[in-house]
Amino acid sequence: MKTPDISTAFTAEDLQSLQTTVARFARQAIAPHVSAWEEAGEIDRSLYTQAASLGLLGLGYPEHLGGTPAPWSARNAMSQSLARYGGSGGVMASLFSLNIGLPPVMAHGSTELQAEVVPPVLRGESIAALAITEPGGGSDVASLRTTAVADGTDYVIDGEKIFITSGLRADWITLAVRTDPASKGASGISMVAVPGNTPGISRTRLHKMGWHSSDTAHLRFDKVRVPQRLRIGDEGAGFKMIMGNFNGERLAMSAMALGFAQACFDEALSWSRQRQTFGVALIDRQVIRHKMMDMQMRISSTQAWVDAVTRQADADQCGAAWVAEVCLLKNHATQTMQFCADAAVQILGGMGFMRGTVSERIYREVKVMMIGGGAEEIMKELAAKQLGI
Ligand SMILES: Cc1cc2nc3c(=O)[nH]c(=O)nc-3n(C[C@H](O)[C@H](O)[C@H](O)COP(=O)(O)OP(=O)(O)OC[C@H]3O[C@@H](n4cnc5c(N)ncnc54)[C@H](O)[C@@H]3O)c2cc1C
Repeated sequence: MKTPDISTAFTAEDLQSLQTTVARFARQAIAPHVSAWEEAGEIDRSLYTQAASLGLLGLGYPEHLGGTPAPWSARNAMSQSLARYGGSGGVMASLFSLNIGLPPVMAHGSTELQAEVVPPVLRGESIAALAITEPGGGSDVASLRTTAVADGTDYVIDGEKIFITSGLRADWITLAVRTDPASKGASGISMVAVPGNTPGISRTRLHKMGWHSSDTAHLRFDKVRVPQRLRIGDEGAGFKMIMGNFNGERLAMSAMALGFAQACFDEALSWSRQRQTFGVALIDRQVIRHKMMDMQMRISSTQAWVDAVTRQADADQCGAAWVAEVCLLKNHATQTMQFCADAAVQILGGMGFMRGTVSERIYREVKVMMIGGGAEEIMKELAAKQLGI
């Protein structure tokens, strides 16, 4: 989890100033544009460079590649604040697809590969994506069938991937392949950084329940030839890399889910203070105040758990028990988001069913948070296994 050269010497003042910057960025550069981007089916390209110029894309990456070393506490605080004040999972999924695409390159790629792939992405000039899921199965990663067959100094890749975030626009695709076509299960899987402009890649847009501003694609690889030097780490070591990568993704998703729950709380509180029914504000009704406290109770417990698991990550205490905590935290945080989105839409009444309210959008984004990055049922199974149950 912890990259050796990422410093944890991030002071409380640094954290405070980061949160202020992020909240301002989310309120000014994201929230006012979300509805238009949702209609357009993608975020404006300029958002990448804006976020990069504030150092947000590079947070947690080493300086020599253009990043800013930062602990998980800072990265999760950023995710939570962007979610709370930007109020859009689609924007965050797109803007930060680098944080699922690049970690395998950072943890296992050669110095040359890192220097080629990472800096343009952190500058917001290139987009990175991660492509693991296949039409034949997402949860069962070890059943993947896309092959990369060695041919001279190249690999020739054939297969398909589905539900890929930033799939339409990605300049770099961190791709899970089977380099040993005769292998079965977790062995024989490798990771390759595939340039998006390689001939033989075709991309099709997928239409979704939510996250409309995030381009999600079906990718087809038809005799795609890439040099073997673009392989990430050792041949056959891909499954372990994929599993390690999931921990960071799930922790970040937990912080995001918490931020979205808070966004729903904020909107519901503001609405219930303004909205008058039968002569009094909604918030003056005990039943509404209780709904708000049911939301707050879940937000507080999730916050405490996110903070605890994040502290362990920063202390590099990432054993089996921690992996189990991350799995269960993802479930708890996304259930908190689900509860708060449901309660907020109910408090907003008909307005909560209208496009344009934050709660309506987040309500449609709940399921992808409970499925993507490891579905609830898989999280429980994995946690039980880690705990020896
Ligand atoms: C909008 C969106 C964006 C995504 N972005 C990416 C991306 O960028 N890159 C990428 O690689 N993938 C991405 N995914 C894929 C995502 O990670 C998968 O959808 C997820 O892992 C589940 O896989 P699946 O859809 O094939 O469902 P399945 O594996 O078919 O599972 C279906 C259901 O059955 C349950 N289930 C499966 N196996 C078991 C079992 N053994 N016991 C009990 N229940 C079980 C699951 O929990 C789930 O509820 C994205 C998905 C979405 C919707």
